[in-house]
Amino acid sequence: MRSARCAIDVDGLVQGVGFRPFVHGLAGRHGLGGFVRNGPFGVHIEVEGDESAITEFVDELRVGAPALATVEHIVCRSAPLKGDPRFRIEPSEVGSEGRFVVPADVATCRDCLSELFGENDRRRGHPFINCTGCGPRASIVTELPYDRERTTMSAFELCAACQAEYECPTDRRFHAQPIACPECGPRLSLRSATGGRVPGDALAEFATTIRRGGVGALKGIGGFHLVCDATNETAVAELRRRKNRERKPFAVMVGGLAAAERIVVLDELSRRALTSAAAPIVVAPCREPSSISVEVAPGTGTLGVMLPYAPLHHLLLARLDGRALVVTSGNVSEEPIACTDAQALAQLGSVADLFLTHDRPIELRMEDSVVRTTGNAIIPIRRSRGYAPLPIDLPFAVETPTLAVGGHDKAVFCMGFERRAVLSPHFGNLESYAAHSAFGRAVEHFERLFRIHPTCVVHDFHPDYATTEYALDRSQAGAFSERVAVQHHHAHLASVMAENGLDGDVIGVCFDGAGYGTQGGSWGGEFLVGGYRAVERAAHVAEVDLPGGDRAARQPWRSALGHLRAAGLSSRAADLLPHVEKGSLRALQRMMDRGAACEKTSSVGRLFDAVAALANVCAASTYEGEAGMRLEALAERSEPSGAYPVELVDVIRSSRRSRSPEGARPFVVDPAPLVFGVVRDVAHLVPSTVIARRFHSAVVELVALACERIRAERGIDRVALSGGVFQNAILSREIPIRLEAGGFSVFQHHVVPPNDGGLALGQLAVAAHRPPIGPGTRENGAS
Ligand code: ZN
Ligand code: ZN
Ligand code: FE
Repeated sequence: MRSARCAIDVDGLVQGVGFRPFVHGLAGRHGLGGFVRNGPFGVHIEVEGDESAITEFVDELRVGAPALATVEHIVCRSAPLKGDPRFRIEPSEVGSEGRFVVPADVATCRDCLSELFGENDRRRGHPFINCTGCGPRASIVTELPYDRERTTMSAFELCAACQAEYECPTDRRFHAQPIACPECGPRLSLRSATGGRVPGDALAEFATTIRRGGVGALKGIGGFHLVCDATNETAVAELRRRKNRERKPFAVMVGGLAAAERIVVLDELSRRALTSAAAPIVVAPCREPSSISVEVAPGTGTLGVMLPYAPLHHLLLARLDGRALVVTSGNVSEEPIACTDAQALAQLGSVADLFLTHDRPIELRMEDSVVRTTGNAIIPIRRSRGYAPLPIDLPFAVETPTLAVGGHDKAVFCMGFERRAVLSPHFGNLESYAAHSAFGRAVEHFERLFRIHPTCVVHDFHPDYATTEYALDRSQAGAFSERVAVQHHHAHLASVMAENGLDGDVIGVCFDGAGYGTQGGSWGGEFLVGGYRAVERAAHVAEVDLPGGDRAARQPWRSALGHLRAAGLSSRAADLLPHVEKGSLRALQRMMDRGAACEKTSSVGRLFDAVAALANVCAASTYEGEAGMRLEALAERSEPSGAYPVELVDVIRSSRRSRSPEGARPFVVDPAPLVFGVVRDVAHLVPSTVIARRFHSAVVELVALACERIRAERGIDRVALSGGVFQNAILSREIPIRLEAGGFSVFQHHVVPPNDGGLALGQLAVAAHRPPIGPGTRENGAS
């Protein structure tokens, strides 16, 4: 038996996940002395004792780590003996330069739940119960390293009982930073819509309001939610009216997996996501009939479902006998979700009847995350609470700390350093002043938290994106020495490449609603060839005139008019779009004849709109992507029965300035034959489900056709799919199957969303590969 001492550095997600208590227990079992503490790069351990015991200890560090931890590297070196008889947890090192990992918020664990409803537990009914394995994290961390005094729990002084648990190595709350109990923890309070305190049992009164069909505002983990009874048609309709939200789907919270299965159809992946520590909203096909009001998610065929993830949710559902609740972001129109009582009362005073709040401050606003599945893979729709800001490993190094500001409607920023990207939670669009400043404050919060001072800022080509303006403003103020602009679809492609660890050249299929092209104009049906450094627009969906530009996203018939003209069918527009007022149709056609107020677009999102309008399934989109979602819902109700044709057409370029190899000619995918097919089917009264299904098959085929031609000409057989259109489960399921059957390797998003919520990661990837020239601005676009 030889004694030895070993200094061990463990990095990865090892802070705030019960790692130090785990190490403490492990050292005790192996009879080792020494200490563990949180350090700048993860956890630093020194152990002393029998040499073989140390070896076993190190092996078990990796395999036995707590469920929430991710051990990336373990580095050991021997150290001089100090004669430590015992093992202890030391205070964290603060102030040292380095990067930390901020753990994400974790849903209430099983053990805490059984205490919450346990007969004689001292935390029975305590709405803030948590332990080393669960509870709020990123939403309450004010600084790193993650310790209680650097969270919003610092104001709550531990009672003797909690202090003892916190310090006891065998307790499951050993060093649980947000530890609390009814004695020393945060407290609930109830306020009326005018802000006055409402006496009585806050939870009971609130539950009564919901049961009676009222609308409540509830302070949760990352902000306020609006809550009402999801089975009460009048209550849901009233919430829609007060929130001024016409048809955009609401999410529903139910008590458990069994309750979820009664209202939606879940596959294995959905079940796993739903019950995971991140507890996201899972979008799944609705069951019919169901107890859920049709007002909750009209016309989508799907429902977003989540399980309670805070103790308060569990307690509320228990009071309401587990009835399903609408739980939706506590905001109105473009404002950010309310986090403080003052914000909630100001924003939601005319929406909610009653406010159930508490005195634990929220440091970082966190909207709920959203995922769906294709049956065999997860599609992230929104990456926020439960995921952000966990780091994403990059297949390349980021030489200078970089801030990528993302897109416009689903603003998410990204900080890159070393081989890591940290993405912010979701901000929504930045139209309002409040949203814009929340975004700016969060950037500063991240700079402080990770001690990063980005010297390079990256943004979209679009001059009117609020994030572009933010980047320009701060650049002009001298905050960065370099500024890089990245073309929208190039960023989409780089995003899916980065999360899949790809390098080299791929075919990027980037389909979305709209993104600024290299020479202005609106793109959205792109086949790019290349990688991080540069891409070439090898092919795209043929451009059509879009009357009214941005307004087309809300009025699908405008897209239909553009596609009808391109297909030579404009004389029949009045017949084919009977629901559109004749006068405005004629006025628009005259405008288009003159070429006025039109934008050219290759957008696949707008092609979806056009088909939805022609098939008469969506006259107006009340939220982004509504027409596409309705079309998808219809297609799911039909068996495949053929596909509308499309045609590949060569593009003759006057000047040959592309870097395409010999024999590779740029081409466009002409959807005119597809539009003809839809028009013919509508005339023959083919059901809209069949039209929708044939259209989806046509998109699958057009991707395959274009990729096959590009592969034949350029010898590239890796295809990466990105852009908001890939939120569509049918396309995300069937395109890979079709391509893989043809010998392609296909890469999709599983970590960040295919929509603009994943854009910042791609912007970072492109900027990290910029040529090393002096300070200034550069535009990385498709050639
Ligand atoms: Zn717990
Ligand atoms: Zn206590
Ligand atoms: Fe996009």
